[in-house]
Amino acid sequence: MKRTKISEIWAPELIGTDVCVKGWVRTRRGNKHVQFVALNDGSTIKNIQIVFDMAKFSDEEMKPITTGASLCVIGKLVESQGKGQTAEIQAEKLEIYGLADPETYPLQKKGHTLEFLREKAHLRPRTNTFGAVLRIRHTLAFAIHKFFNERGFFYLNTPLITSSDCEGAGAMFQVTTLDLNNLPKTEDGKIDYTQDFFGKPASLTVSGQLEGELGATALGAIYTFGPTFRAENSNTPRHLSEFWMVEPEVAFNDINDNMELAEDFIKYCINYALENAADDIEFLAKMYDEELIERLKFVVNNDFVRLTYTEGIKILEESGHKFEFPVFWGADLQSEHERFLVEEHFKKPVILTDYPKEIKAFYMKQNEDGKTVRAMDVLFPKIGEIIGGSEREENYEKLETRINELGIPMKDMWWYLDTRRFGTVPHAGFGLGFERLVLFVTGMTNIRDVIPFPRTPNNCEF
Ligand code: ATP
Ligand code: MN
Repeated sequence: MKRTKISEIWAPELIGTDVCVKGWVRTRRGNKHVQFVALNDGSTIKNIQIVFDMAKFSDEEMKPITTGASLCVIGKLVESQGKGQTAEIQAEKLEIYGLADPETYPLQKKGHTLEFLREKAHLRPRTNTFGAVLRIRHTLAFAIHKFFNERGFFYLNTPLITSSDCEGAGAMFQVTTLDLNNLPKTEDGKIDYTQDFFGKPASLTVSGQLEGELGATALGAIYTFGPTFRAENSNTPRHLSEFWMVEPEVAFNDINDNMELAEDFIKYCINYALENAADDIEFLAKMYDEELIERLKFVVNNDFVRLTYTEGIKILEESGHKFEFPVFWGADLQSEHERFLVEEHFKKPVILTDYPKEIKAFYMKQNEDGKTVRAMDVLFPKIGEIIGGSEREENYEKLETRINELGIPMKDMWWYLDTRRFGTVPHAGFGLGFERLVLFVTGMTNIRDVIPFPRTPNNCEF
């Protein structure tokens, strides 16, 4: 008999028909006359209740049905008497696929802490919380592709292994096939990378942007959506060593177009999740964060505040608020500063622009003042920076001068500079940290809880 997914079992026309469901047991309770099994198959947060008439099933048959065991049940779908559920199944046939020994299956009692579940990341997708988070994550990923496809952007796959370490976004993980216990050396005692796999040093990428610019200056508008890697030793609730980044890049866009795109994009994704993952968002709101849905709707329905870094610094300086890190013009903003602007001062998402050039990457377009660049960071409540982007410097000489000032090895950059040498155009783009968006939409507070298998310093299990 064909299996029906539990997400599809609530269709009114199925009432009164025979159905077949398969899934994992959440709970079993009851007595010697009747027993109830809550079954979940991962397709939805909702369990289906299966009613076992103990005149038809023996205690022996029921005993292996413990939390975590996997089953197939065939029976009649009927309207439920119990409150809170619309339908239940009266079991006719039972097949047990696999047992889950209560002595050793770790997901026994309800209310495990998120910390405990991080140690069980191989099984935590079977919990309500992680089922909901992972379904929302999928919904957001789908929304991202849908948004860009509807706007005529092309999905560009940029390399994960790179030989240029000039992006400056963070420390890189080296990729090598050399024997670390027996490194080949050149005559002057340095490591001989000509014997390495690529014939030169290589690393995992920290961003797809530079290659994204090659795509944008050919296809017009592209986006990347893939994993990026940063070996920064920042053990925070907002940093991962391996995370997914979305990076649109658009030829002929200036910083204002870029801000508009970022705001439309983020609102579209949140709205899509509200409409298509409502059950899961409601579950997480109920369990963890009562203001979640209100916060999501607020962001969708309000304009983001736009102001310059210089104006932002002034507000922070005049606030009289005691910050852990000092505030002065030229300082890199910390999450406490970003969150003060968003949560205390404006009470709205903020797009901060025109940062000092010293604290931003070499490729950002230089302003007339000689001090600032056309950068834009989108700052969100509870998160801080969710997007970082800029209009790019399209002038060959200015870009080259900046590269020299920063001492970036030019020979590694020849292919990037060719975009400015041949048919250069104004262009702009940004990077959204996908997990930070998932954090915001799920209301989770630790980034380790919104990716299936988190990688952080000293943690590479599973
Ligand atoms: P932060 O200051 O928070 O470390 P960043 O300025 O280094 O961020 P960018 O290099 O601009 O970030 O990267 C673009 C986006 O990628 C950020 O806005 C953020 O959403 C996300 N991001 C950056 N680093 C990480 C990380 N280690 N883990 C998860 N997301 C990240
Ligand atoms: Mn960083």
